[in-house]
Amino acid sequence: MEVKEYVKLRKEELRQEVLAMPHTPKLIIIQANDNPASDAYIRGKLKDSAEIGFVGVLDKRDPSISEEELLKVVKQYNEDPSVDGLIVQLPLPKHISEEAIKMAIDPKKDVDGFHPLGDFIPCTPKGIVNYLSHEGFEFTGKNAVVVGRSNIVGKPMAKLLLAKNCNVTQLHSKTSREDMEFYIAHADLIVVAVGRLALIDKSFKYKPDAYVVDVGMNRGDDGKLHGDCEPGLPVALQTPVPGGVGLLTRLALMENLLEATKK
Ligand code: NAP
Repeated sequence: MEVKEYVKLRKEELRQEVLAMPHTPKLIIIQANDNPASDAYIRGKLKDSAEIGFVGVLDKRDPSISEEELLKVVKQYNEDPSVDGLIVQLPLPKHISEEAIKMAIDPKKDVDGFHPLGDFIPCTPKGIVNYLSHEGFEFTGKNAVVVGRSNIVGKPMAKLLLAKNCNVTQLHSKTSREDMEFYIAHADLIVVAVGRLALIDKSFKYKPDAYVVDVGMNRGDDGKLHGDCEPGLPVALQTPVPGGVGLLTRLALMENLLEATKK
């Protein structure tokens, strides 16, 4: 099933669940930047919230806000029992420590899944694994390659695949082309989270039954959004960009919010 179709189906299931709940889940998004990409992500999150029946609230602060002041805002929402999920949209202004803010969010409300003590799986890896499970991918014993090792995607992705009993190999900017070719040729699952247009292309050899998940989002010379993978790779499944992992990430956020509310 296409990602778009799957997301639509799951959103409807979530909507039905919310209808039957005594309390409407509430999500707060704190934004302290003037970043147009953040504006677009937030619009998407608020749209999803509204469609599913959650209350979504944007608390926009001036980017000149001090770290101390922002920590106070976070504390206020941590202590507010009507708030189920709390997100601080990244990036933050340079004078504010992202680490300090992330760690200040109550782990029970950290629906982004960034807090090391939180119960929530970060949204991008969670969305990907849930979708692959729905598509019938059997994780146990499969060779999974994760290209990229960032804290936000690559590392949590590899950790989750390991927990699903895959044989995980993590590649990065210091991996040689020769090794990259070797690991990709033997992979049953390839997750690419780099941020380089068409890094993974038809010049590599693939298992015909491999699954390729493209996390990358790159603005091309044509002004359009493109992934890290060349479209039309000779594999069994390849997620598109746009209309792929971005939607799965948004869906996983809504799933985390519902979980937070139930807790
Ligand atoms: P990041 O923090 O810049 O990390 C990029 C990773 O790619 C690094 O680990 C880097 O290796 C590795 N890398 C760079 N050049 C490489 C190469 N030539 N070969 C192999 N690995 C290479 O980026 P990120 O935050 O993980 O994001 C990655 C991409 O995913 C971006 O395009 C971002 O926009 C997108 N993204 C999408 C979503 C979504 O919901 N769709 C969510 C998050 C991110 P080193 O560690 O060695 O430097």
